[in-house]
Amino acid sequence: MSETTVYLDNAATTRISDSVLEAMLPWLREGYGNASSVYSLGRKSAIALNKARAACAEILGCQTREVFFTSGGTESDNTAVFSAASVGREQGKRRIITSAFEHHAVLEPLKRLEKDGFDIVYLPVYREGIVRPADLEAALTPDTALVTVMTVNNETGTVQPAAELAAICAEHKVPFHTDAVQAFGNVPIDLKNVDMMSLSGHKLHAAKGVGLLYVKDGTPFRPYILGGAQQSGRRAGTENIAGIVGLARAMSDAAADMDAKNAKLLPLREKLITALSELPGAMLNGSREKRIASNVNVSFPGKEGETLVLRLDLMGIAVSSGSACTSGSLDPSHVLTAMGLSHDEARSAIRITMSKYTEPADIDALISAMKTIIN
Ligand SMILES: *Cc1c(COP(=O)(O)O)cnc(C)c1O
Repeated sequence: MSETTVYLDNAATTRISDSVLEAMLPWLREGYGNASSVYSLGRKSAIALNKARAACAEILGCQTREVFFTSGGTESDNTAVFSAASVGREQGKRRIITSAFEHHAVLEPLKRLEKDGFDIVYLPVYREGIVRPADLEAALTPDTALVTVMTVNNETGTVQPAAELAAICAEHKVPFHTDAVQAFGNVPIDLKNVDMMSLSGHKLHAAKGVGLLYVKDGTPFRPYILGGAQQSGRRAGTENIAGIVGLARAMSDAAADMDAKNAKLLPLREKLITALSELPGAMLNGSREKRIASNVNVSFPGKEGETLVLRLDLMGIAVSSGSACTSGSLDPSHVLTAMGLSHDEARSAIRITMSKYTEPADIDALISAMKTIIN
């Protein structure tokens, strides 16, 4: 395998930024105290934890007590879904509404709940890869325990009308959770009417194994990870101070960099879509306009996406086919099939995702490699 010189798989994970790494290092070297310990080494960790939480809350425009840290996006999603399901069960509510193309970190907990007697309703996402508010209106019933719809899809980058969906839920007094893992730093996040929201560090140039869950004041909450009384009893386990400090730094950087990053990446996205569209058979997946600036997802029906990924890898370029979590299995992406693509079309897709580190030369390299491979 040749060395990767062009990294275009930032929806799978991102490189840790220098500022995040520098913020983390003291908490990996000398600041190793347990934040629950009473002596000064522990108290220093507790202070760092509280500062990080306050910083995250300020960036999100919420109360400090509405934020706690998890091991990542998967745990945040599992926690939100199972909490709402527990509360729903207590209230005799057994319906959960989601979209057909959520991340597996939402879909798999829902499958478990379905076995336990919940009715799960999957809203359609159409060719453009976007949920329609009218479909949610039609699906809501008085016994709905939760609506969970992601803000930005991880495979197509398509932006959901999360604020509208949240407002509909608020009107019907149904809790709304959104997986904003691919949204934060790409589109503004509006927590108005949002009851729970998941974030992940490693999609934002922070470390793997750290994430955040926002739970609005007044939203009934049942913890998922049980054990110690850490984080006000909402998430047991000794806190990952270095990871958390890094996440706060990454969120602050991402919020500050968002407009400049989008201004830089939007023309690169358009250039890439235009160039790939000229290749024989190419087909853009998902709305061209209502997608984040950093995502391009294109199918080449008749080709195998996995093969394209391996050929690009030989040329030092990293992209993905389908989502990173399902590669290794040759099943077509559930996201693309939910959007109405045939199995052949879905299996021929490649996803190119940029970051603030992506330069025009990276996109030129990809375009020229794809021309060689496809023609
Ligand atoms: C990556 C991702 C997750 C999972 O986050 P981890 O921190 O890797 O557990 C969840 N949802 C979406 C949309 C993602 O892209």
